[in-house]
Amino acid sequence: MSFNRQQQAIIDFSRHILRPKPKLTGTEFANEKFQLSPESSSEAGRMTLHPYQEEPINCMTDQHTEFVTFQKSARVGYSISLNITTAYFITQDPCSILFAQPTDDEAYGYATDSIEPMIRDNPDVSTAIGSKPIRGKAKKEKTVKKLYAGGILEIVGAHSPKNFRRRTVRVAVGDEIDGWEIGAGDEGDQIKLMTKRTNDFYNRKVIVGSTPTTLQKSRIVKEYEKGDQRKRHLPCPFCGEYHTLEFENLKYEKDENGEVIDESVGFACPKCGVIYNQSYHKEMDINGKWIAKKPFKGHASFFIWAAYSYSAKSTWVHIAKEYEEAKSDPILMQPFVNTVLGLPYEDNKETLTPSHIMKKKEDYEHEVPKNVRVLTMGVDTQNDRLEWEIVGWGVGHESWKIDRGIIYGDPAQQAVWTELENIIENNEYEHPHAKMKVYATGIDSGGGRTTHVYAFTNPRLHRRVYALKGASTIDAPEVTRRINRDVNHKHYGTTFFMVGVNRIKDLVWTGLEMESRGNWYIHFPRKPMYDKDYFSQIVAEYKTDKGRWEIRIKGGRNEAFDISVSNYAALRIAGVDLARLERDNKILTANVSRLKKKSGTRELSSGI
Ligand SMILES: [Zn+2]
Repeated sequence: MSFNRQQQAIIDFSRHILRPKPKLTGTEFANEKFQLSPESSSEAGRMTLHPYQEEPINCMTDQHTEFVTFQKSARVGYSISLNITTAYFITQDPCSILFAQPTDDEAYGYATDSIEPMIRDNPDVSTAIGSKPIRGKAKKEKTVKKLYAGGILEIVGAHSPKNFRRRTVRVAVGDEIDGWEIGAGDEGDQIKLMTKRTNDFYNRKVIVGSTPTTLQKSRIVKEYEKGDQRKRHLPCPFCGEYHTLEFENLKYEKDENGEVIDESVGFACPKCGVIYNQSYHKEMDINGKWIAKKPFKGHASFFIWAAYSYSAKSTWVHIAKEYEEAKSDPILMQPFVNTVLGLPYEDNKETLTPSHIMKKKEDYEHEVPKNVRVLTMGVDTQNDRLEWEIVGWGVGHESWKIDRGIIYGDPAQQAVWTELENIIENNEYEHPHAKMKVYATGIDSGGGRTTHVYAFTNPRLHRRVYALKGASTIDAPEVTRRINRDVNHKHYGTTFFMVGVNRIKDLVWTGLEMESRGNWYIHFPRKPMYDKDYFSQIVAEYKTDKGRWEIRIKGGRNEAFDISVSNYAALRIAGVDLARLERDNKILTANVSRLKKKSGTRELSSGI
């Protein structure tokens, strides 16, 4: 049988549109065909995807997911996923691919270090590309541009909008988009420019991925939020509860040298509380599932961080140790938050570093310097301890940290309260003119031991021992007295004080930022308990764009900052008039055991 030209054209066209769909899914392709290169992996050769990688790879290669976003840490196999995807679209489902790196140099480096070894080690890919060499072009252009039957792969720098012009592609990939210059030139956003290049295709694919940088600048966080926001949920090996691995649930103990004890490292199940170690990880991942927060509308977005990784450098023990190293040094902290947690770093404009404030430590001329008019105590309540600090106040709210300590034990038990009572009643501090005691005490009641805090504070209200409760609104007044008048409530009749925590934190931060003495300045004594840990806690929070103070790292410690707030609240509730004390040359101290009068300074006895 023979056909005329027109018939032949119809047959050819039919063959073209009836061409069988790609036979392999992305996962099948990776596991059955793909070869890892020694440049990109410690184990070269055939590979098997880890369970958590399968769904993302399928979304990157399928026919119905238009947009795929990865917010990620380092060492989660993302570069390999991109190589698999590139190989897939060259051999299984040929089409043109635009691959954007932050700059031309990075594009060239990526082509040399990642794409060329992938082509070399995957025979199907090298066969496809080898058949269409680019003749007579410079080496650099040959490196960043590959021709094959069905398309062109081009690797470009995103910094220049012209790199996105005049190119029509079905697949566009944006790598490390948080490293892209923002709105280069006046042609607008490069992600939009890149996406526009795929508009002609009903089956287009736009993939962007990045390790985040800072919250203010991060594009990947915004792109993730535009998608359906999938997170990897793993079943607890003890109770079966599906949950995400959260850094705040990573638990470990330290030895007497402050080193992480490897055997103690594990995640606590949020349901049953059992701590499981890394040996359970693989089985949990095999039974794991990606769960989206929002319905799928063509945009799959994935979040993954180092705890899910199988890399020998990302074990849970490594993560614990890296955190310990980073937590007292903001220079290490941002890389930790970005490359280990996969989260944006939230930066105050004027960032205070622990080491910067630590340099302000000074030798006091007396245990309590002469300008101190009154001592307050702030107490933080945790389920296994009380942390306390005593602060001296002078005119203009200049303050001197005097002493601090931890009382170990559950505040549900009487013993810790007896010890706290002992400190309030009996600790005396040497002022040039008197032995001073704590005048007013503020105890945080917001933890899990509210009832026990009230049991301690209510009988001692007349001795200025106050239960404090943080107000949730940003602009709450500094302190407000409250009495529980609900007769059916278990705390009926108790008095407590609402504290405008957000407002007071502004004041404390102002004091921390000051470089020289004056109103609000905070002094720190050269004492061993004012150590690196303390100073990392006091700068553990930052102020968000919305004006609310929040902890930089979920699960990080901020007690020193909180206790500073409680101290100020106690001073305010007690109604101490520092200006008047200064004018009258008086100091205020409670339950003074011995009175000394020197240099004309008088003491006021306490009592309401
Ligand atoms: Zn559990």
